[in-house]
Amino acid sequence: MDITNTPEHKTDPFTNALAQLARARTAGNLKSDIIERMSFPEREIRVSIPVKMDDGTIKIFEGYRVQHSSARGPYKGGIRFHPQTDINEVKSLALWMTLKTAVANIPMGGGKGGITVDPKSLSRDELERLSRGWVKALYRDLGPKIDVPAPDVNTTPEIMSWMADEYATLTGDTTNATFTGKPLEKGGSEGRDKATGLGGFMVFNVLKDVLGLEIGARIAIQGMGNVGSFAAHIFAEQGYKVIALSDSKSGIYNSEGIDSKAAEKYKKAHGSLKGFPGAKDITNAELLLLETDVLIPAALENQITEENAGQIKAKVVLELANGPTTPSADDILFKKNIPVIPDILANSGGVIVSSFEWKQNLTNEHWSETVVRERLKEILEREAREIWKRASYLATDMRRGACIIALKRLSAALHL
Ligand code: NAD
Repeated sequence: MDITNTPEHKTDPFTNALAQLARARTAGNLKSDIIERMSFPEREIRVSIPVKMDDGTIKIFEGYRVQHSSARGPYKGGIRFHPQTDINEVKSLALWMTLKTAVANIPMGGGKGGITVDPKSLSRDELERLSRGWVKALYRDLGPKIDVPAPDVNTTPEIMSWMADEYATLTGDTTNATFTGKPLEKGGSEGRDKATGLGGFMVFNVLKDVLGLEIGARIAIQGMGNVGSFAAHIFAEQGYKVIALSDSKSGIYNSEGIDSKAAEKYKKAHGSLKGFPGAKDITNAELLLLETDVLIPAALENQITEENAGQIKAKVVLELANGPTTPSADDILFKKNIPVIPDILANSGGVIVSSFEWKQNLTNEHWSETVVRERLKEILEREAREIWKRASYLATDMRRGACIIALKRLSAALHL
C-alpha cells in the first residue's frame, strides 16, 4: 500500500506522538512540566556512515540515534533500516520507547536508532559493513549502562551479532550487554525472537473477556515480519482463526482461515504472499477494512488514519507495530466503540525480554524459556489490567490510560 498518500502521513509521526502526550495530559490532569520534558529528546545524534561497496566505490549513508530519556535507566530501543527512516521518525519511536519502558515498569529509558537505507538493495557483505559502520560512528555513545540498542524493522539477530562484535572490538567490553536481540549463541535470551508477538498475545488474552471476545475469534494481521509472523503462529496455536496476512507487496485472505506456517514458507520461497494457494489476493488497504474480530497492524506507522478509520470493521485493534494509528483515527475508533490496545502496551514484550537479555548478560546467567515466559506474563498481565482499569475509570481510551500511567512514573523518577 502507498502509505504516503494520506494527509496525516505528511504530518510526521513525532507530531502525532506529541499530540498523544497532550491528550494524556488533559485526560489525566497532569502537570505541564512532565509533558514539556518529554517533548524534547535529551540528545539527537546524526552521523554519516561511509561504506565500501562491492564494486569498490564509497557510499555515504545517514544514521541516527535519538536518546530520548534516561530518567528511569539506560536508553533502550531498536535500530531501524528503512528507506523512509529519518530523524523525525526515529524521534517519535524514541519517545514511544520511553513511554513503553515506563508502562512495563522496567529499569530502562527510551531511545531509538536507524539508517536511511533499503537493505534489500545491499549485498550481505555491504550490509555487514554498514551495520559495523553504524557502531563505529556511535560506539562512544553506547554501552550497557548508557544506551542499549536492539532490532527493529529490517534488523535481525545476525545484524545485532555484527554490531555487538564491532562494539566489543572497539571497546574491549566483553559483557555482551550493549546490544540485545542477539542470536542465542552470542548471548541472546531464550524467547527474544518471539517476545513481541507472544507479549501481544498475552496482553490480548488477559483483556479478551472484558473486550467480549472468545477463543476462535478471527484475526487479520498486516505485516508478516518478525512480529507479525510470530503473532500469527501464536494466535493460531491458541485456537484463533487467522483470516488475513500481508507483507509490503500484497495480502492474502480466506474467511475460513489461513495456515500461517505454510504462508510463511510460501513467502520465503516466492518472495511474497501473492498467489498463496487457497486464499484470495488482497491489498494492504483492503486488509485493514476486513470483517474481522481482531485487527493487528504489525508493519509501520500511520496505517489507520482519519481517511480509513471510519470504515474499520474490526471489533478490537491490537497494535503490534509502533504508531500505526494516528490521533484523529483514535478518536474515530473510540466513538465507534472499537477499543485500541495501544503499542506502548501491546508490543512491549520485545523490550521486556530485551531487558531480561541485558540482565542475563550483566550477571552471567542463562534463564530457561519457561522462566522468561513466566516473568514476561507476570509483567504484561499486571500492566494490562492496570491500564484497562485506568482507562475505564477515566472513561477514555487505553492509549490515554497507558500514557498517563507512564507519564506519572516518569514524573516521579524525574522528581526524585
Ligand atoms: P520486520 O522488518 O521483521 O517486518 C516488517 C514487515 O512489515 C515485513 O513483513 C514487511 O514486508 C511489512 N511491511 C513493510 N511495509 C509495509 C506496508 N507499507 N504495508 C504492509 N506491510 C508492510 O519488522 P518487525 O520487527 O516485525 O517490526 C514490525 C513493527 O513492529 C514495527 O512497527 C516495529 O517498530 C514494531 N516492533 C518491533 C519489535 C521487535 O521486537 N522487532 C518490538 C516492538 C515493536
